[in-house]
Amino acid sequence: MSEQLLNYINGEWVAANATEFLDVKNPATAELLAQVPMDTAVDMNRAAEVAAAAFPAWRATPAGERIQYLFKLKQVLEDNFDEIAKIITVECGKTFKESQGEMVRAIENVEVACGIPKMMQGDISEDIARGIDELMIRQPVGVCGCIAPFNFPGMITFWFLPYAIACGNTFIVKPSEKVPLTMQKIFQLVDEHLNLPPGVLQMVHGGKESVDAMLDHPVIRAISFVGSTSVARYVYSRGTANGKRVQAQGGAKNPIIVLPDADMEMTTKIAADSAFGCAGQRCLAASLAVTVGEARDTFNEAIADAAANRVVGYGLDQAVQMGTVINHASANRIEGLIQQGLDEGASALVDGRGASISGYENGSFVRPTVLADVNPAGEIARTEIFGPVLSLVHVNTIDEAIAFINGGQYGNMACLFTTSGFAARKFRYEAEAGNIGINIGVAAPMAYFPFSGWKDSFFGTLHGQSSHAVEFFTQTKVVVERWPKEWSRQF
Ligand code: NAD
Repeated sequence: MSEQLLNYINGEWVAANATEFLDVKNPATAELLAQVPMDTAVDMNRAAEVAAAAFPAWRATPAGERIQYLFKLKQVLEDNFDEIAKIITVECGKTFKESQGEMVRAIENVEVACGIPKMMQGDISEDIARGIDELMIRQPVGVCGCIAPFNFPGMITFWFLPYAIACGNTFIVKPSEKVPLTMQKIFQLVDEHLNLPPGVLQMVHGGKESVDAMLDHPVIRAISFVGSTSVARYVYSRGTANGKRVQAQGGAKNPIIVLPDADMEMTTKIAADSAFGCAGQRCLAASLAVTVGEARDTFNEAIADAAANRVVGYGLDQAVQMGTVINHASANRIEGLIQQGLDEGASALVDGRGASISGYENGSFVRPTVLADVNPAGEIARTEIFGPVLSLVHVNTIDEAIAFINGGQYGNMACLFTTSGFAARKFRYEAEAGNIGINIGVAAPMAYFPFSGWKDSFFGTLHGQSSHAVEFFTQTKVVVERWPKEWSRQF
């Protein structure tokens, strides 16, 4: 029998109180890797209580001492960098290089959170009236939790975790049940090397039941969610109805606009990396390319070439440029959407369906796909595909292109390819998306910027990473103090 994963609660590995387990498989080889417990509401409740009990002492630990644990965390993540990256590839299917890339960003977030003693400093105004001062101080909110999606098993938790604990909160991680092994490894390292006080960090596996318990438990004060829009909306409404702070990042349908004056060679390379990198399973993957005027012919031919020549295979094999999608259900869904695009009138410049990779016949592969003449009003131009499919839409002017993309439901990322400064400024100003790329295909913010998102790509106010995370994981207290001169004494 394969390993049944344990939860990490109060500094100990404990068997889940679950009756239902889900198989975790390598999406390239179909090898059974482990079994993850699913119905873990009891465990989530226990984790919440333990985290609440640990909070007063952790909160009272000076910030300068709290971040010493983050220095150690950075060190263990670096010391085990390739091993963690390998686990990501094995359970998630992306290439080893892509897995290393996500761990770079995870570590960068730990580094930024080491600045918390300064970042969570408050403000003071002396003499707002004679002998009266006013202070604003930041205090941690209490027990916080995060719920992660499958596509970045290592990175996304780190948009939240280091900031939350450095600010003095205690924390519970609920990894994606599709890719639980990366966090399992990271928590093993935390357990072995950090010597954190028990209860500061918990990990509880599971699915909906576990999430619902987190959303309902009264001691949990703040929840960070990343995943699909329907679940983000649900988490946001149930969590806020229960009086919690919630930040919920949702899905996307990211457009890139290609103007006729763009550097076509560079544009095509960047667009292909954006659309087909991580098999299109990035929340910042290009899913739509809108060509303007004469850009169409050159771009369409070049992107079709790039798609057809991408080396697809097992992410641990050296020459591979694109791995699997997460599972067979996802591959089937993506192939169904390709068919729907064709039914709506598109033509396939490259059709990636029915992929079979020698040596990995049981893998969930979909090859890069390029659909041309996509109907802008059709389903395929609006729905998140979350696979290696780029839909091409053509318009005549930049105004038409911006109006088209702004008509979409999502607002995670929008990119423009041009050599015109004027067009770039106009686009930056008018495009309705939280992350903008100018001659960039994956406009992912460094850890010292917040990871933005608009419209149905985000529910809440404060985003993950950096200054937004510090605001999210702290609450302000304003103090007005009177110390009149008449009370002065000589000592
Ligand atoms: P998902 O919504 O299926 O799952 C995300 C998390 O929610 C998982 O931990 C899962 O266990 C939990 N969950 C799933 N269904 C639930 C339900 N009914 N009730 C309560 N909890 C539930 O998302 P996914 O398939 O793991 O990830 C892919 C999605 O995430 C895509 O839509 C992608 O765009 C999005 N994403 C967004 C960002 C961003 O920054 N905006 C980043 C990464 C991924």
